[in-house]
Amino acid sequence: MQRRTQGAETQAWEINDGGTRLTHPLAWCLGWTCPCRPGTVPRLPSSPSLLKAGLGRCPRIVSRSQWGARAPKNRVRLRTPVPFVIIHHTEGNPCTSQASCSRQVRGIQNYHMNSNGWSDIGYNFLIGEDGNVYEGRGWSTMGAHAKNWNHKSLGFSFLGSFSSRVPNNAALNAAKSLIQCAVSKGFLSRSYFLKGHRNVNPTDCPGNALYKVIRQWPRFKA
Ligand SMILES: [Zn+2]
Repeated sequence: MQRRTQGAETQAWEINDGGTRLTHPLAWCLGWTCPCRPGTVPRLPSSPSLLKAGLGRCPRIVSRSQWGARAPKNRVRLRTPVPFVIIHHTEGNPCTSQASCSRQVRGIQNYHMNSNGWSDIGYNFLIGEDGNVYEGRGWSTMGAHAKNWNHKSLGFSFLGSFSSRVPNNAALNAAKSLIQCAVSKGFLSRSYFLKGHRNVNPTDCPGNALYKVIRQWPRFKA
């Protein structure tokens, strides 16, 4: 029997297989269940639908051409897998449709390139409350999102301002799925640590409300 349990703080997959129940509270090994001992090979689910649901699960990613990105002025390759994922908020307006989120992302790219003088939008990916993920610099280009940490992290930023409210479930689920996706694709180490921007640079980012949420996520380390 396979059962998915989802609590406020952790998301765990349980497999009851011939009397052996395996629970992995972190539940991020290959985006599926793992035996509790590190270094052992995770069991793969037998059902194709559960396999599809759990293994290498990736959110819907809106590509640069789909959101109307400008070409980057330069690219520096990121050495992957990186050991850290860093969470931000854009501190801009919220958006709940692909059209409005795309408009936000174009505005952020213009700001980062024109005002900050950067080669491209700073983040690796952005997350909308429409439940979509927007491709920024992507998986293998070094970002400009957290000073001294760009070469060893992926930067994911929630579109909106989350000091006094949390992102909706569509955005939170997309972000969690993006982290699993990064691990399953080999861009993020399986033994990664999750951090908020404020944990590595002097900033309020990603906002008090959102920070309280990600502190409860698997593999968070201040
Ligand atoms: Zn930030």
